[in-house]
Amino acid sequence: AWGKLREELIKRVGRNNYTTWIEPIRLAELRGPLARFEVPTTFFGDWVSRNFSDHILHQLNASGQDVSRLEFFVPTVSQPRAVRAAASAPAPGPAKPLPRLAQRRAANDDELPGATLDARFTFDSFVVGKPNELAHAAARRVAEGGPVTFNPLFLYGGVGLGKTHLMHAIAHELQARQPELRVLYLSAEQFMYRFVQALRDKQIMDFKEIFRSVDVLMVDDVQFIAGKDSTQEEFFHTFNALVDQNKQIIISADRAPGEIKDLEDRIKSRLQCGLVVDLHPTDYELRLGILQQKAEFYRQQYPGLQIANGVLAFLAHRITTNVRVLEGALTRLFAFASLVGREITLELAQDCLADILRASDRKLTIEEIQRKVAEHYNIRLSDMIGPKRLRNIARPRQVAMYLAKQLTPRSLPEIGRRFGGRDHTTIMHGVRKIEELMATDSQLNDDLNLLKRLLQG
Ligand code: ADP
Ligand code: MG
Repeated sequence: AWGKLREELIKRVGRNNYTTWIEPIRLAELRGPLARFEVPTTFFGDWVSRNFSDHILHQLNASGQDVSRLEFFVPTVSQPRAVRAAASAPAPGPAKPLPRLAQRRAANDDELPGATLDARFTFDSFVVGKPNELAHAAARRVAEGGPVTFNPLFLYGGVGLGKTHLMHAIAHELQARQPELRVLYLSAEQFMYRFVQALRDKQIMDFKEIFRSVDVLMVDDVQFIAGKDSTQEEFFHTFNALVDQNKQIIISADRAPGEIKDLEDRIKSRLQCGLVVDLHPTDYELRLGILQQKAEFYRQQYPGLQIANGVLAFLAHRITTNVRVLEGALTRLFAFASLVGREITLELAQDCLADILRASDRKLTIEEIQRKVAEHYNIRLSDMIGPKRLRNIARPRQVAMYLAKQLTPRSLPEIGRRFGGRDHTTIMHGVRKIEELMATDSQLNDDLNLLKRLLQG
């Protein structure tokens, strides 16, 4: 029977592919060398045909059938009852029009049409601190799955600050609370990939149907579609269709909606309609918290391995850029220590992580600040240092002075020297001017936040 046979396929395709792609199909008919399967949509059938035909054929033949051809079809209402009754399979559960989310990271990420969830990215494993408490609270709220209060939820922040982690956590939580909910998580890149594929295969109606029938849509790294016109267009319509149906949308990006270059204005304004929250760069406390949690996990993995006091604090202090790097450092440290069977001491850490520590020791220079600020405001680097007093040049120059004061340990006279030999009082004036404007100028605040993020990675 197909039911048994089908289960045999778990071993061949894996549990995730099985629940996503195999479980929902139904063997409708076996006619000589031809096996016909009922599928929920043509898109679905196409996918199964392309990716799992070999496995299905193998399994059918292994069970003694002599099948050489598979056909997938979407049942129509006029489908004669007799055909259904002739099917050798037990009545299947309700067809799932939408692929369920896979529960692990697949090696061939971009081949999966849905997207993959990392089982480790849960709320439990997310360490909350000042820099991310707002984003965390908003994510929690959405994950409760109550009535939609803000739509979309827009999460943004620099690389490795936990955007993807939070989105996966929301998806896990929603699925746990409401298994019937159709939650679709994917990166903007996958959205584009699927869209282009649907266009090419003339299955755009299927595409629209899938995307517009979800209960929750999550699109990660939306900045990716900036400048990609037809994808933006489709995204815009998908977005509107879902919002109209009061379906929850969650979006992430590396910066605020208004700051994404080459993103259509109408999309920007839609993205700003809900709740926009940012994940700030980590602070020492948060980094230490994350390390402690990770270390706890490794202690269980490598029982008996000792880690000296102060090692975690040392890492939290020295590796400040990106949580991923921080985690990588700890992973390497434990792996190395267990290999050589030594306690993890400060010396071992310094030795084993020399390259990482060197890279994160990199000091931000005033030149880098000037360059980024000049780029941001579209002025020449030479004007940044030069004597021009035009406001469209003087203001960015003051911004650069302010950031130099904020982000480097340089003194005012030192900064002055790097701004074409200006006097320290000029620098002080520039810094004060910016501080003064910050009280009222929200555009300036946005600019400063963005620049800080860019400069501090
Ligand atoms: P982003 O999508 O913002 O670039 P990720 O969500 O991929 O960042 O996070 C990078 C890594 O850092 C992941 O392994 C994630 O689990 C971890 N991470 C980031 N923030 C936290 C946090 N607050 N608590 C625990 N782990 C975190
Ligand atoms: Mg991410």
